[in-house]
Amino acid sequence: EVMQKQAEHFGARIVFDEVTEVDFASGSPFRIKTYSKEYLADGVVVTAGASPRHLGVPGEEEYIGRGVSYCGTCDGFFFRGKDVVVVGGGDSAMEESIFLTKFANKVEVIHRRDELRAGAVLQKRAFANEKISFVWDTVVEEIVGNGVVQGVKVRNVKTGETSFRKTDGVFIFIGHYPNSKFLEGKLAMDEEGYIITDELYRTSVPGVYAAGEIQDAHFRQIATSVGQGAGAGMELEKWLAARE
Ligand SMILES: Cc1cc2nc3c(=O)[nH]c(=O)nc-3n(C[C@H](O)[C@H](O)[C@H](O)COP(=O)(O)OP(=O)(O)OC[C@H]3O[C@@H](n4cnc5c(N)ncnc54)[C@H](O)[C@@H]3O)c2cc1C
Repeated sequence: EVMQKQAEHFGARIVFDEVTEVDFASGSPFRIKTYSKEYLADGVVVTAGASPRHLGVPGEEEYIGRGVSYCGTCDGFFFRGKDVVVVGGGDSAMEESIFLTKFANKVEVIHRRDELRAGAVLQKRAFANEKISFVWDTVVEEIVGNGVVQGVKVRNVKTGETSFRKTDGVFIFIGHYPNSKFLEGKLAMDEEGYIITDELYRTSVPGVYAAGEIQDAHFRQIATSVGQGAGAGMELEKWLAARE
């Protein structure tokens, strides 16, 4: 709200709508279509972000913010002295598991395979951490609670055996996807759909810039995204001025 007020104070107009289609092919001014209107824009900064992948199991949506989290850096603090499970086996899952041991009493990593996908150094650090333990070949089938998370129902994918594990928090790190579907074929993207930008946040189309998580799968923080947005805005301003 404070950020919105500050932006409006400097002349920004904020519209709550969803972009459904863009036409970047004919150059500036670009056509931006939303559900309710079509806009013409001399320049564009795309900041549609990225979303964490959800498990899609019962209880997950219900307990988001009440024990279910997709960000250890953001929510780890609330689990001081508590037991948590981490779902996933990649770099993010290991980085966040190690981070969570600063607060949590115990971190149990539940992974659907019998080995991690994370890099060797991260694996070594995770295995060496006394607070972290591993539950292999196992998937979470349900998140259970009573107002707040109390545990997870899990199934061993090799034996089919099901069991209940008590926990205070469920941290899910099974990947992110950029919200770039509406830009497919319009801007250059990598194989995961992240928009490719250079160091000045320029995309493959002159006059179209991108900032934040839609082009940054690495940092994924408010401070870095805001900084990138400021950088992209400054570059777009220069680009517009050079055309006058
Ligand atoms: C649960 C959670 C908690 C977090 N807590 C923290 C924290 O404490 N500290 C921290 O540093 N980081 C935190 N993060 C990460 C932080 O939120 C992101 O790094 C940051 O918000 C990314 O900024 P962004 O502008 O790239 O994307 P976002 O903030 O995700 O903004 C993208 C916006 O674009 C909109 N959008 C998407 N598609 C369209 C479309 N087609 N048309 C119009 N609008 C569209 C979305 O609705 C959204 O409003 C958290 C993330 C999550 C998921």
